[in-house]
Amino acid sequence: MSEGIELSEEQLKNDICKVMRHLFERGLVSALGGNVSARLPGSNEFWITPSGIFKGELTPDDLIKVDLDGNIIEGFGRPSIETPLHAAIYRVRPDVNAIVHAHNPFTLGLALAGVGLKPITVEAVMVLRKVEVVPFAFPGTDQLAKLVAEKASTGARALILQNHGIVALGSNLYDAEAVAETLEEVATAQFVAMALGKEPPVIPEREVELYYKLYRLG
Ligand SMILES: [Zn+2]
Repeated sequence: MSEGIELSEEQLKNDICKVMRHLFERGLVSALGGNVSARLPGSNEFWITPSGIFKGELTPDDLIKVDLDGNIIEGFGRPSIETPLHAAIYRVRPDVNAIVHAHNPFTLGLALAGVGLKPITVEAVMVLRKVEVVPFAFPGTDQLAKLVAEKASTGARALILQNHGIVALGSNLYDAEAVAETLEEVATAQFVAMALGKEPPVIPEREVELYYKLYRLG
């Protein structure tokens, strides 16, 4: 049995590195920016990326295991400065097992301009569902963790950290990666329409409600 648990943890660590690489390759994080964490479902401990190490080539040995109070359980480096933010989300959201923090340029740009994301694509409706904006607080502070926990407890799948970046919440790593990437996809499409001087048409609310009913979401 313990062997099974160890195998899943190894898989989890490999997947964290893979997701981090994808984010770097897609230009959603810079060399040292962003962080990713994940836990086995229901666990009070999670694995997180380290601080100050090049994010494009992380290996499982670089990761650090911490508990929900941020105490280091396993690993050698320094855990991400945003560990309190990740822990705060896991504490209030038992359905969340993976968190991606990235610096999506278009998503952030729209938020800086005070423009909210609109239900302009099927993915915006199905994948993002609920996006909340978190007012600015300095990275790594308890204040930011508290603000994030407040917004996360509303059931949001994505948070936009004003003047900073985004946080994507998922039931697993690929779910969280999909939310992070969809944010940027929707923001970019919306920006293109607006840059051409047009107000993008949105999927009608009636249709959105129908989708949610059909897939038992919301
Ligand atoms: Zn950041």
